[in-house]
Amino acid sequence: MAQRSPSKRTDARRQRVEAVLPILKRTYPDARCSLNHASPLQLLVATILSAQCTDDRVNIVTKDLFKKYRSAEQFARVPQEELERDIQSTGFFRNKAKSIRGMAASLLEKHGGKVPRTMDELTALAGVGRKTANVVLGNAFNINEGVVVDTHVTRLSQRLGLTKHTDAVKIEHDLIPLIPREDWTIWSHLLIYHGRKVCTARNPACETCPLRPHCPSAEIFLKARAEKPAAKRSPKTASAENVT
Ligand code: SF4
Repeated sequence: MAQRSPSKRTDARRQRVEAVLPILKRTYPDARCSLNHASPLQLLVATILSAQCTDDRVNIVTKDLFKKYRSAEQFARVPQEELERDIQSTGFFRNKAKSIRGMAASLLEKHGGKVPRTMDELTALAGVGRKTANVVLGNAFNINEGVVVDTHVTRLSQRLGLTKHTDAVKIEHDLIPLIPREDWTIWSHLLIYHGRKVCTARNPACETCPLRPHCPSAEIFLKARAEKPAAKRSPKTASAENVT
């Protein structure tokens, strides 16, 4: 069978994004960042806490945390053990406390306690990687500098045939040319909402999914379900190798 050229494949993927984006926007008109915050600093702290933790749990913890610590200086000055206790229930609390204190100290030292607005400056802060920087730039400053790739964005981008990669940086690299820049931030929120409500990891609801006509994984899941008795169904994701 003839192989499609890379540019034709990119065109097909771009058209798929053009088709699914308005559907997702209509379906989730209120999609937004799920981490409660009232300032760039609070979003930075909440995003660090959200690693390997649910946004709901982070929001419970930050409700008190943001009353106790109101500035970069206060986060930088708190003893490590005390901050660990404050954030313990988010998991990995030793590393997270170290990151938050280090990040806050860098803010004080280099930026007068303010959160900077560029990718380079943000990723130079202790404990801040590209994903965290993208969250802060897109949601605190409305700057579309990249696409946030989390577990939902990874899974749905694969199922929608937009990437075959599993590495977040490579997935972001695949997505950027497909999505209009002004939609980079909302794209992640929309996929996260859809991944939580419909296209779940173990049991995607392809039968009722509004993206089904455009999704190359839908028939793979539906066929697998039709062939296997319910009790023996494998929860595996349709292979990214099967989609283009
Ligand atoms: S059709 Fe199925 S696999 Fe495709 S996005 Fe919808 S729920 Fe996910």
